[in-house]
Amino acid sequence: MKRILITGGGGFLGSHLSDRLIAEGNEVLCMDNFFTGSRMNIHHLLDHKNFELIRHDVTFPTYVEVDEIYNLACPASPVHYQFDPVQTTKTSVIGAINMLGLAKRLKIKILQASTSEVYGDPEIHPQPESYRGNVNPIGPRACYDEGKRCAETLFFDYHRQHDVKIKVMRIFNTYGPRMNQNDGRVVSNFIVQALKGKDITIYGNGKQTRSFCYVDDLIDGMYRLMNSRDSFTGPVNIGNPGEFTMLELAEKIIDLTGSKSKLVFQPLPQDDPLQRKPIIDMAKNELGWEPKVPLEEGLKKTIAYFETVI
Ligand code: NAD
Ligand code: UDP
Ligand code: UDP
Repeated sequence: MKRILITGGGGFLGSHLSDRLIAEGNEVLCMDNFFTGSRMNIHHLLDHKNFELIRHDVTFPTYVEVDEIYNLACPASPVHYQFDPVQTTKTSVIGAINMLGLAKRLKIKILQASTSEVYGDPEIHPQPESYRGNVNPIGPRACYDEGKRCAETLFFDYHRQHDVKIKVMRIFNTYGPRMNQNDGRVVSNFIVQALKGKDITIYGNGKQTRSFCYVDDLIDGMYRLMNSRDSFTGPVNIGNPGEFTMLELAEKIIDLTGSKSKLVFQPLPQDDPLQRKPIIDMAKNELGWEPKVPLEEGLKKTIAYFETVI
């Protein structure tokens, strides 16, 4: 049995990771300041003997004794990470320094939840891990994109300079139960709008694309990465290569919910990437991983979840 620290453990991905790690027989120490996460996400774990919750902001040092760290703390949706952009950069950068300092002192493995946003608005399509990205360093998304890029730099420098064992995962858009219904992400927005019979808000002409990975697939990739051979550091793309336009996504959700909602068009936010799709050969070869849940099946499960909470 390992004692495992998950920063951001009260969030969407962190709560599913907590479930998985406890199911594998580990103890989970969940650290969260509940900026975007919620106690509801981990409500079912609060009395579990192998689960412990610490309310703490990762931008401040932490002295705990654990065997592994998954560093997920960071607001992930544009609405939330742009709400207090300075805090977003601090969370990514100072949070990474503190967690890497902890990993260095304890001589333990640490996994970083990085993002496809390190590729910015990509000029290469689909994106391999070797692509260095096209990020606007002074735009409204930069606090997130550059914060995550700097965190990757820190991970690789702690690895080279201090021999810290690292795993860097570039996560592509992920959806599923326990997404925050107010965080403005496209899947949660469209489902909530469809279920409430409200207009579905398409930003721009809706022809921009994203690749959506169901949360169970994503968590499986994360677990496999943490437990891969020591010399494999990544960065590795984890995402579902199925690529859809926002118009296609809206149509699918209207179909699956039987909603009468209409589409309305709103301005495209600044620096919104036009296309995004992972190349996942590295994950297939190194981790034996590929996504299993097709979009429609994942959307049905997510819709069923939102029906219970809205
Ligand atoms: P989320 O917002 O649901 O979870 C993030 C968690 O971090 C929340 O519980 C929040 O309260 C916590 N947090 C934020 N700032 C903190 C701080 N300073 N100290 C302690 N806790 C803090 O988002 P998520 O979708 O679960 O994302 C988890 C991680 O995965 C993030 O690092 C995100 O950047 C990354 N990621 C997610 C996606 C996705 O599609 N969901 C895609 C790429 C990367
Ligand atoms: N740190 C921490 N917990 C630990 C060890 C370190 O929070 O158990 C923090 C510490 O505050 C420091 C950061 O991690 O600022 C980086 O640690 P490192 O050892 O790399 O740097 P140093 O302490 O030498 O500045
Ligand atoms: N989007 C949209 N309507 C919404 C919310 C988002 O058309 O109500 C678009 C957004 O402009 C982007 C895509 O959906 O092109 C994915 O947005 P999200 O915020 O979910 O993720 P990210 O842009 O970070 O990939």
